[in-house]
This record gives sequence, C-alpha cells and structure tokens, in this order.
Amino acid sequence: MNLERFIQKKPFIIAGPCSAESEDQLLQIAEEIKDITNVFRAGIWKPRTSPNTFEGVGAKGLRWLQNVKQLTGLKTITEVATAKHVELCLKAEVDMLWVGARTTVNPFYVQEIAEALRGTNIPVFVKNPIHPELALWAGALERLYKSGVTKLAAIHRGFFTYESSVFRNEPKWEIPIELKKNFSELPIICDPSHIAGESSLIFELSQIAMDLDMNGLMIETHQFPKQAWSDAHQQISPKELKEILNNLILRKRRFEDNHLNIELKNLRGLIDELDEQMVEFLNSRTDLVKKIADFKFKNNITIFQLERWYEILKLRKQQANVLGLDNKMIIDIFEVIHKYSIITQTKIMKK
Ligand code: PEP
Ligand code: MN
Repeated sequence: MNLERFIQKKPFIIAGPCSAESEDQLLQIAEEIKDITNVFRAGIWKPRTSPNTFEGVGAKGLRWLQNVKQLTGLKTITEVATAKHVELCLKAEVDMLWVGARTTVNPFYVQEIAEALRGTNIPVFVKNPIHPELALWAGALERLYKSGVTKLAAIHRGFFTYESSVFRNEPKWEIPIELKKNFSELPIICDPSHIAGESSLIFELSQIAMDLDMNGLMIETHQFPKQAWSDAHQQISPKELKEILNNLILRKRRFEDNHLNIELKNLRGLIDELDEQMVEFLNSRTDLVKKIADFKFKNNITIFQLERWYEILKLRKQQANVLGLDNKMIIDIFEVIHKYSIITQTKIMKK
C-alpha cells in the first residue's frame, strides 16, 4: 500500500461523544476539548444491538457537526455503514469517516462504502471486525485502498469474546501488531473506550497503546457521561480526558544515548543466543518424535494418545508454576509444539 501521511502528530486524538444527542451537547463538548483534540467524533447513525435502544439522531446531526467545525475549528468524523451515509457525509463536508466494527465484518457493505468513496480524498478509519480475524480487517482496508482511498488508518477497538473478561472487548494486542507488520505505513489508533466498556480502565489502556507505539487514541467524551444515551459506562468527561492526556507517558522509539544503545544490543545478543538454543532443542525434539513415530508404526499404535498429551501439559504447567512463568504462555507454546509433533508423525506413518 502506498498511503498518504495525514496523521503527523503523536498521539493523534479523536474525542467526542459516542452519539450526537443535540446540537448544544456537541457544541458544549467540542468547546471544552478543542485545545486537546485533533478531530471531534460523534455517531449520527448508531449500530445498536437492540432496536429498542437509541439508534442515533440521523442525518440532521450532520448540520450540527458542520456548526462544530465552524465554531471551534475542529475537524469532524462520524461513522458510515452504507453508501447513502457516505453520500450524505460528503455533502455535509464531514472531514473524516470511520467504518464501525459491525460493518467491517461484512465485505458487501465495505465494498459498497468503497465504491461510494471512489474519486474522493477523504481520510477513512477502519475499526477492527467484532471477532478476532486479522484477514477480514486487512481485507476491508484493501477494498478501500483499491477504490482510491489513500488516507487510511485502522482503529483497534478490541474483540468480542465469550470468555469472562474485565474488558467489554478483549484487546488482543497481538492482532493490531500483526496488522502493522503487514502494512508498516498504516497508522493505528487505539479506541480504549470500546475495549474497556468502563471509564476507569481508559487510562491504563491508553498507556499500553502508547507503549506499543500506536499513533493515537479515539476516546468517547461526554459532558455528562452517566446520562449519555449510549455507552454511558465507558464515556469520560472533558476534564477526565485532559487528565488522561496530561498523564500519558510518551516513550521514545530509540535511545539517543549511545551507551544505552550498546547495552540494549548486548541484551538482544543474549536473547539471540537463547533463541538459537531453543531452535536446536526443537530440532533434537523433532528427531525424538520421528523415532517415536517409527516405533508406533512398527508396533501398530495410534499417533495421538490423549493421556500422553494431558501428561505433557500437566508436567509443563507444574514447571511453569514453580518458575513463576505465565501458565497460558506455556500452554500456548506446547499446543503449537504438539501440533507439529502430530504433523511430523503423520508424515512418517504415511511413508
Ligand atoms: C462507536 O465508535 O461508537 C462504535 C459504535 O464503535 P464500534 O464500531 O467499535 O462498536
Ligand atoms: Mn460508542
């Protein structure tokens, strides 16, 4: 992708209410945050789970956004989910658009939005799909790019999970990191509000996003958060937004001091040595797996034996506990090792 850089500042701040409720509300919030915000957000059409909840004020809110722009000088952004939304936003001169998580999941909708944007040069932010599928997120960005949208950014808003979690949407930081590896030019903005679902978690999530070198934050901000018509639990006041932004620590990418660089290089050298040893161990382990496969084959025994797998897991979890290592990390690693052990054995059995 050959993207145009339209985000220079770090952190690039997008703030404003989840939903536009009235013109006064928008103007009041915008006035209070205009000095600490780059772009003012407000949802006009709201994708809600239940049809019995507030679904947005609709197209009339676009005029309110125009007034926000005129009176405060802030740029504006809203969510689009259909070609009609795009058409109305372009007409109302909204400065930027975002595609919501419930839209990114559907290639038909994304394609329709992409077609409606052909020939325009408006920046578009694409939220991750609701479920953790990197390819779908990347696919939506590619559809827009193919329609000529070159001012693109991604928004990481967390992922739905059935597992119990303190978050409304699991962050799964590894997914936006993978996205960045695939598209190194793509700015990634974190939306801690929709990850958290709860205002008290916004600061720590924002700090993690900054430590991961994300380009900015989209934070839902409301003049009376508790009374908001949507997402009341996760919104914060303009005053809280100020505090959060003031307290964020922005770390540097590289050390300016050469001694520190040398120290880091030495530590990385030690990591490389350990990694080399790990690969050698895996090689020896694979040799043993092949021997076992031969043995099973000659004696007519099945490849996969559940009890043995449970035993491996149990032993390694015990070891992890003694060492104080993250149990889940060890389980994940051994699941991959075991998967390849089965693949290796299957190849031998087939010979
Ligand atoms: C929103 O930003 O208000 C919104 C609906 O977000 P998401 O698509 O991330 O749920
Ligand atoms: Mn919201």
